[in-house]
Amino acid sequence: MSHSQTHDVIVIGAGFAGLYSVHKLRDQMGLDVTAFEAASGVGGTWFWNRYPGARCDIESIHYSYSFSEELQQEWNWPERYAGQPEILDYLNHVADRFDLRRNIQFNTRVTSMVWDEENSFWRVGTDDGKTTTARYVISGAGNLSVPKEPDFPGVKDFQGDVYVTGNWPQEPVDFTGKRVGVIGNWPQEPVDFTGKRVGVIGTGSSGIQAITEIAKQAGHLTVFQRTPNFATPIGNGPIDPELYADQKARYAELRKEARNHVQGVPLEAPLPSAIEVSAEKRKEVYDKRYAQGGFRMFLSTFADIYHSKASNDTAADYIRGKIQERVVDPAVAELLSPTDHPYAAKRPAFENGYFEAFNQDNVELVDVKSNPIERVTATGLNTTTDEYEFDVLVLATGFDAMTGPLMAMGIVGRNGERLQDKWADGPETYLGITVNGFPNLFLITGPQSPSVLYNMPLAIEDHVDFATAAIAHLNEHDLAIIEADAEAEKAWVDHANEKAAESLLPEANSWFMGSNIPGKPRRCLVYVGGAPTYRAICDEVVAEGYRGFELSPAVELAQL
Ligand code: FAD
Ligand code: NAP
Repeated sequence: MSHSQTHDVIVIGAGFAGLYSVHKLRDQMGLDVTAFEAASGVGGTWFWNRYPGARCDIESIHYSYSFSEELQQEWNWPERYAGQPEILDYLNHVADRFDLRRNIQFNTRVTSMVWDEENSFWRVGTDDGKTTTARYVISGAGNLSVPKEPDFPGVKDFQGDVYVTGNWPQEPVDFTGKRVGVIGNWPQEPVDFTGKRVGVIGTGSSGIQAITEIAKQAGHLTVFQRTPNFATPIGNGPIDPELYADQKARYAELRKEARNHVQGVPLEAPLPSAIEVSAEKRKEVYDKRYAQGGFRMFLSTFADIYHSKASNDTAADYIRGKIQERVVDPAVAELLSPTDHPYAAKRPAFENGYFEAFNQDNVELVDVKSNPIERVTATGLNTTTDEYEFDVLVLATGFDAMTGPLMAMGIVGRNGERLQDKWADGPETYLGITVNGFPNLFLITGPQSPSVLYNMPLAIEDHVDFATAAIAHLNEHDLAIIEADAEAEKAWVDHANEKAAESLLPEANSWFMGSNIPGKPRRCLVYVGGAPTYRAICDEVVAEGYRGFELSPAVELAQL
């Protein structure tokens, strides 16, 4: 017996992706949509990452939705790069302004998702024990929404408070390795580190931001660093009202320029080559962009630093030189200077006083590459050579990125195939948004799409627009199933791998390559061909009647 589905579309998540999806499907397409969100509020990344210093690294005028001119005109950012509280305020405002909460079920985690072949819809199981069905599922479950499980023993033995940057609660919790999902909305009291002995593990973007702030309060801060990062200044500050007024007047034009830029930000163009200019000119360019801050150091200096090792070395040397200028103790400066990967082979980290924190008497840097962490103890941690004591442990150890949130959802496609099995050797997608064998499922900013190499709100809007246009197309043509062809998927995976191989990303161990998680297959998880090129490919696919997809009626319709 066949059944009709409960909803047209189920959306997972209420971050940038989930919120826009609900608005678009419900208010612009008139569809019946329901969303599930594990957290108690909207915000996604900006709900969960409440650690001190959390801030975006793309200027807020650009790191924001573009879909509503009214929204972008009425919202005012206080700083060039907004902090987490302001971004969470913004997403709460979006939810209120477009009345999105009534379609979102909070505190509800999707735990299973099974394609029902007989009825051509998805059966979505949630942790409240219910099953909900929908013809389509749009996953906005995020790329960086599953914190990495600590890979050293003993965390549960620690007697002090443990905080995880990617799951920063209102109050310290017993470490369970899982998100609690029951914390309240902003505002909240920030965690007070005053006078405490704090240990931080991890010096990626999150650690760098958190360390800078915790160092201002802690009685003693011990930073456990395995790999130093090429951090450069963010260049934050108050927004210049005149510049802001001008930007708002030209918003549509700025968004167009942003969408044509590989980073999704209208940054100044780089010079062609770092090694074809004189040493003086090179220094002048680096000095200017380093001082201006943010992605300009990477993307507005020299075009070939992402592809040519020789050019990249000039940027890496420059940044190492800056670290040596800023850190008083030469031995500490040396330890903070990355040497094992090219600049920007990991996502560049941005800072505001990070290196100066190591000049403070209360801050100590411990190299856990040469002396690895053996275990966390009741009172601190042991490395292979030393014992350290602290009252509070902060884990800034990153995420099971891109695939982690999807693998955790128990997704089962056609013929009982589990996504975990299909992706056992690494993710395989068509265009980074669909998967052969998993019809009517759209992965917003999924693996092998530009995602975090681009400005995420724009990447999300592009993907939601693609998914919703496909659904509209099916509805208009009395069709109900869209599925990526196996050959098209294989060609996309090959293309994405070729593009990755042309870049410097494989030269680093990072979450981009899946290599931050023990046992995870080493595979480039992002599309390196550039968002403008990617968008042109997607547009062509649609213009050619969804090239590479099979479109068909629902099974019960076909049987009539
Ligand atoms: P998320 O914001 O991650 O939201 C996903 C939501 O899905 C979460 O709320 C989660 O609880 C929910 N969810 C997941 N699984 C389930 C499930 N099974 N059931 C129910 N709900 C589920 N990108 C940039 O472009 N620029 C930046 O400056 C930037 N800064 C960042 C800073 C930090 C600290 C981090 C961690 C990431 C940053 N990013 C940045 C990337 C950031 O993740 C994206 O910009 C964006 O916020 C992602 O939005 P999203 O809606 O796709 O996913
Ligand atoms: P990350 O970049 O993966 O960094 C994790 C850190 O933890 C690394 O220093 C890593 O060392 C260390 N680590 C992990 N396991 C360890 C272990 N067992 N022992 C010792 N050290 C260990 O994670 P993240 O800092 O959370 O950043 C993830 C991404 O989120 C960023 O790349 C960025 O895209 C986004 N983000 C952006 C901002 C922003 O500025 N807007 C801020 C935060 C996050 P190794 O390098 O040696 O593995």
